[in-house]
Amino acid sequence: MSDQLGFHNLPFLAHRKSVKRGFEFTLMVVGESGLGKSTLIQSLFLTNFFGNKTSPPAGERIAQTVSIDATTVDIEEKGVKLRLTVVDTPGFGDAVNNELCWQPVIDYCNEKYDQYLRDESGLNRRNIEDHRVHCCLYFINPLGHGLKPLDIEFMKQLHNLVNIIPVIAKADTLTPKEIKALKIKIMNEIQENGIKIYTGETDDDEDDNPDIKELKEIIPFAVVGSNTLLEVNGKRVRGRLYPWGVVEVENKDHCDFVKLRTMLIRTHMQDLKDYTQDVHYENFRKKKLMQGSP
Ligand code: GDP
Ligand code: MG
Repeated sequence: MSDQLGFHNLPFLAHRKSVKRGFEFTLMVVGESGLGKSTLIQSLFLTNFFGNKTSPPAGERIAQTVSIDATTVDIEEKGVKLRLTVVDTPGFGDAVNNELCWQPVIDYCNEKYDQYLRDESGLNRRNIEDHRVHCCLYFINPLGHGLKPLDIEFMKQLHNLVNIIPVIAKADTLTPKEIKALKIKIMNEIQENGIKIYTGETDDDEDDNPDIKELKEIIPFAVVGSNTLLEVNGKRVRGRLYPWGVVEVENKDHCDFVKLRTMLIRTHMQDLKDYTQDVHYENFRKKKLMQGSP
């Protein structure tokens, strides 16, 4: 992989202001525990974050996530600054009673909207920091034969609050054929249950944009995460070792990891931010104003 994530090429960076001030993006991961959320976000960004010229720690020793944990890093590419925050959440599904397991996630999102609203109404509106969650990756169990009732409920609790992108976790545990079938099943269940997910669709030029057409066919992204470097054909790659070979995280033929990262960082980052501002935040603001009025 090249060392750069590629955000310095984003079209909206034509604005001199965004180049100078940099821009902010927050990504959250949620889903059952043990599905590889912490591993994936490290694979996505964190190992690059720290300019990781050295290899990651041997093996994978990620401690179980016990509380909502936000990590912010400033990355700079060709003079363009990106302040990226990754919000890791504790998994659910272990507890006997999973009722309201989404509440901390909802509270977190609302808290950030509240903070933004306060800043916006304050005196110094020019330099507001944006900590709102712009995208939420929802991890689906690859062995669950589709969505579980808890997934359906969780996503419904979240879908008016944040952009949800569903992902099939640990895709290396399924065959390509199984992945294809599971994607169709999940998308049907999402539709049947009236769950709103982010598909990168816009009202206007939907049909003209080749990126978007492809996205719709890919979602839910089938992902594989790993922080282990393995040697394949003389190159060091992140992957998972099996008796029959290596599943490479960043190989497009092996999983959708690269497509997901490209979408988040290159093609849809601004749209995710716009949708958060124009739809989710606006909903929040309206609700808040209505509560406030007598
Ligand atoms: P979390 O609870 O969702 O944050 O899951 P973790 O990232 O802590 O991972 C739980 C376990 O699954 C660890 O042993 C990881 O090494 C393993 N794991 C993570 N990602 C993958 C993956 O894509 N495929 C497979 N097979 N295992 C994974
Ligand atoms: Mg975790």
